[in-house]
Amino acid sequence: MQKSSNVTDALVLPGDVIATAEEYLPGRNAAESNGYVVSLIYGSVRKDDKNLTVSVSPVKKKLSVHVGEIAYGKVTKTDQRHASVKVGAVLDKDLGLVEYTAEGSIGLSSQFDKNGNPNIHIGDIVRTKILRIGERGFELGIFGKNLGVLRTLCSKCRIPLQKKDSSLYCDNCERSEIRKVAEDYGMIDITGEWA
Ligand SMILES: [Zn+2]
Repeated sequence: MQKSSNVTDALVLPGDVIATAEEYLPGRNAAESNGYVVSLIYGSVRKDDKNLTVSVSPVKKKLSVHVGEIAYGKVTKTDQRHASVKVGAVLDKDLGLVEYTAEGSIGLSSQFDKNGNPNIHIGDIVRTKILRIGERGFELGIFGKNLGVLRTLCSKCRIPLQKKDSSLYCDNCERSEIRKVAEDYGMIDITGEWA
């Protein structure tokens, strides 16, 4: 029997490029964007080489979380004091990256640049540490070189910003933006990092 489905161990985040649109059509939990197929969820990639589709399967759900664990999410709102985060996955020490949905909040009091702009923006994908688990959600921290923004888009043209020296740069607009980035910004390999 011919092998037609090709499963990889790699875990992807929402917005990750999983194929080019020339190679594969978007399947379940995937969509086309600017010539690429991107993942819409946290999960593992499934390539179907017979039908030439690429899908993403959700990863196992986590039942309980603990303070000190790493949570991944997307920033949905910012104000003067907080960034709201929609948590989508948590790193479990036995299971690896697992799906977990929760509301989170990052305190921004010390996260403003010299112009008063927060170093986290709406739409940023962040890696955080769970500092507290409260009734209204998680209190999340981004201090530490491994924590912070993993992916962000140019606030003008919406293409992903590239890390350049100490700031993030848009090749298209030829301008920089500042974020509190994780040291592996732009080169995320969740399976590798965890191994
Ligand atoms: Zn731009």
